[in-house]
Amino acid sequence: MKIDLSGVLYGQLKESEKKYYDALAKNDLENVKKFAQQCANIEKQLADKVPDQAKAHLEKAKRWDEADKKAGTAPKKRMVEKGEKSGDTEEDFSGFGESLIQTSTVTWKDIGGLAEVKSLIMETVVIAGLSKPESIKPDKGILLFGPPGTGKTLLAAAAAGSLKATFFNVKISSVLSKYFGESTKLITALYESARSHAPSIVFIDELDSITMSRDGDQGEASRKVLATLLAELDGFQDKKSDKLILTLSATNTPWSLDDAVLSRFPKRIYIPLPDKKACQEITKIQTKGLDISQVDMEKIGDQCVTRNYSGRDLQNVCRDAMKSMTRRINKDIFDNIENMAELSFEELQKKTLKAGPLSMEDFTQAITRIKSPLTPDDFKKQEAWNKQYGAS
Ligand code: ADP
Repeated sequence: MKIDLSGVLYGQLKESEKKYYDALAKNDLENVKKFAQQCANIEKQLADKVPDQAKAHLEKAKRWDEADKKAGTAPKKRMVEKGEKSGDTEEDFSGFGESLIQTSTVTWKDIGGLAEVKSLIMETVVIAGLSKPESIKPDKGILLFGPPGTGKTLLAAAAAGSLKATFFNVKISSVLSKYFGESTKLITALYESARSHAPSIVFIDELDSITMSRDGDQGEASRKVLATLLAELDGFQDKKSDKLILTLSATNTPWSLDDAVLSRFPKRIYIPLPDKKACQEITKIQTKGLDISQVDMEKIGDQCVTRNYSGRDLQNVCRDAMKSMTRRINKDIFDNIENMAELSFEELQKKTLKAGPLSMEDFTQAITRIKSPLTPDDFKKQEAWNKQYGAS
């Protein structure tokens, strides 16, 4: 999955704006000028990368261009992080949603196993996308739960990739902890961005960190975030709009979800560890383009299931096996690594790393090295929760 450059630029902009305001507070005029110019340059690049917001970015660039000459022309200060003093400048949260944008090139074919889950999500995506009578409404929030590394993020990315939708990927725990007290504004900013970049898939990970039951400020922040999130979800359902914004949320620990959260996500889909066939499919996906004709796929499937591997563990196994193969096939390079390391990047680029067939030994060794962090109790707990609360 490629990260959209605009996300990186928003990060840099935030950094430069902070430095600008720090310099301004210290009356450090040299740096005021330097960082105002940096901000202006980034805004100009953003105008180029985000065409539908080009006008706003160029306007801000102009204000930054003038900021070193005339006090008070700089755009408003951005969001304030936990522990930072906000001062008396008005905060601007608009960059937050933008900073979460990723470009997903994942397709449904990149996901091994999970056939039923895939078709359930496909169905939701298709219904949400089709023009339809007003009374037919797509599911508002789908909850994906299961052990870590089983493909929850990948499913959301595939939904975005196949629709060619904008993909917003947010860990709600970081919103709650980092921008404490401002979290609701950030949720609103996120959905504003989702609206302006529609069609959008919003993936909200670690939903369990919204905990109503906690006392004090943290519980209060959670309650507000949930209320805002639900209002945003409801809002999109009610508006007669052809804009598609679909929210998928995920948790690895569904039992720690509060009832209040749970009741608002009636569609709860279990994403289990891969079975034998799925393990084989994931291995093929992860080694795409390489020769695996010498690999005993029956054995791979059996061993991966016995070891409780997740898709992520399998990805690690395949990477490890590929590394062994690369070392074996490119002995001339790896036996000579100290001399190779002396070469410049330009010289290295003239040489080629060869690929050969993966052997069963490559996989056997990788499997002994990679251990699943899960215990049987972990996924038994998931299965029990699925029986009681899972609903598709
Ligand atoms: P989760 O969100 O459930 O923690 P991810 O979707 O981030 O897990 O999966 C981590 C990585 O593991 C993915 O980027 C992918 O490379 C691999 N992976 C996991 N599940 C699958 C799957 N079903 N098919 C193919 N690759 C998978």
